[in-house]
Amino acid sequence: MSSTVACDPTEVALKSFFLGPQSENANWVTELLVEIFERWFRWRRDKFPEDGSAISSLDQASPEFCERRQQVLGLLQQLTHRFEKELPKFSPRYVGHMFSEISLPALMGHILTLLHNPNIISKESATVAADIENEAIEALGHMLGLGKAFGHFTSGGTVANFEAVVRAGARLHCWLGLGAVQGGMTLFEAAHMGWARYRQGLTMIDEHQLTPYLPERSGPWDAGRALEQAFDRPFRGPVLIVPRTGHYSWKKAARVFGVGEANLRYVDSDSQGRYQVDHLQQHLLDCQLMQQPVLAVVSVTGTTETGAVDPVHAIQDLLDRWRDQQGLHIWHHIDAAYGGFLCSLLRKDPLHKEEGLEAVLSPHVFQSLSAVGRGDSVTVDPHKLGYVPYSSGAFLARQRDDYTCVQTLAPYIDYRNVGDRGPYTLEGSRSAAGAVATWLTARSIGLHQAGYGLLMARTIRQKQKLEQWLLQKLPSARVYPGCDTNLLCFCVADAGDQVSRCNQRTLRILERLNSESLYFLSKTHFPIGSNGVTRDFIQSWQGQADTDQLVMLRLSLMNPFFDSHELDVNHIEHLVFALSELSD
Ligand SMILES: *Cc1c(COP(=O)(O)O)cnc(C)c1O
Repeated sequence: MSSTVACDPTEVALKSFFLGPQSENANWVTELLVEIFERWFRWRRDKFPEDGSAISSLDQASPEFCERRQQVLGLLQQLTHRFEKELPKFSPRYVGHMFSEISLPALMGHILTLLHNPNIISKESATVAADIENEAIEALGHMLGLGKAFGHFTSGGTVANFEAVVRAGARLHCWLGLGAVQGGMTLFEAAHMGWARYRQGLTMIDEHQLTPYLPERSGPWDAGRALEQAFDRPFRGPVLIVPRTGHYSWKKAARVFGVGEANLRYVDSDSQGRYQVDHLQQHLLDCQLMQQPVLAVVSVTGTTETGAVDPVHAIQDLLDRWRDQQGLHIWHHIDAAYGGFLCSLLRKDPLHKEEGLEAVLSPHVFQSLSAVGRGDSVTVDPHKLGYVPYSSGAFLARQRDDYTCVQTLAPYIDYRNVGDRGPYTLEGSRSAAGAVATWLTARSIGLHQAGYGLLMARTIRQKQKLEQWLLQKLPSARVYPGCDTNLLCFCVADAGDQVSRCNQRTLRILERLNSESLYFLSKTHFPIGSNGVTRDFIQSWQGQADTDQLVMLRLSLMNPFFDSHELDVNHIEHLVFALSELSD
């Protein structure tokens, strides 16, 4: 049944860019699919028509052929049937992890790319798609405030974060190497000398002199010993400074790239769930004192657990002071895997001057997102708040040198084309599907206030409404500090409750909601011992910490239709009602 009520212009982005929870836009999608496939068939026929056909209608009518057709059809039906047990991520009832509906333009871009199957390792193997990737990176760079950035698509945020670590490492090794050859500076000064000083120094030495100091060439053990000799002190390898709320990919990075988990330095949050810049400063001073270089400082806009946004502006201000006052350049990577698309709220659409949508952001989040473009590099996942199908992540660096300082050539690939990515990416062969899907979705919806901004604002507002309604109807709901965006993390606890009881209640609620297919939520747990925020939070309801972790319900309110007033169900009221029923 279709309603005849006209669509509010601010909801066009919502209604014309998704299939809809009941496949409302099915006819249009079918048209688009037919268009894509017909053009693909025609393209193949028109390319070399003089070659003739390889498969005749007689072949197609042969019993073997028909048997194969039947077999494929049967298996496909089996598979589609199996997939009916897949999570109903399209439904507004799915508010669990960081995925939901995918956008139609993204889906079409993805499918179109699969048909051509380009490998964007180089222009030689992707004559068209490699350019589209560059244009998509340009669009993301603009949205993030980086301007003309250097980057590429990855399989996701984890690999994009790895791309930052491997570059920050390569840069650090070059600078240390030059300092070792030149002498006259401390190890810490050398490690953070900056590209200008490095370039100038390079003119005075033979580049080969760096080799013994570069772990990429000499191996980490020999390079370490060479650095110890040159600087006449123990070399302890670099540290990676990450927020305690960081994604576990940083732990993976520390393990994979030889940093070691012991060399992760964690920055704590205050009782409001806010990153403590003073603590970062303390870590930097300790590193300087111990002459242990800083591989990178990482901040997060949109943490995986609560959607909290670190004060990127204040962190960058601090690092700018280190640079301006002491000439020390420290790499700042912003992990905006989740929150990067929120930056669309800051960009005006050239055609619509005054949306003022950024008001949906708290001043703290606004300031932080406005500073993302000041960092050295950024991770953003189109497959999260970009509503693009998997796998689509992206890594972007602001300066060319920071991007190109890793380079490995392959003898069998023609890398003469400027801008080929192969020599610079951790991954080898790469699908262009994520890049093209991002391109089409960015061009059609728009990475600004009149496009994505509308979606982002909507998801934040629906989270705010749900939170309000929850606290009003279920006063024993306790919302975790730092739920700054569209994630909501809470538990249900009476004053003085034991944490173990509260955990049992949380698990029971989750289990009941899931088993009755009412709503799909996720959960997370916070260690109590090492986490001051969690201790203060439990204190706030006089809870008794009788166990070592607190389990919380976690909702990612990304579904664009969660709060649609046309639906027959008011999900906010319905969900809170279910939660109250299950909380007794
Ligand atoms: C999801 C996420 C990642 C990892 O991204 P994948 O695409 O799952 O590899 C990294 N950092 C943050 C903050 C994330 O939310």
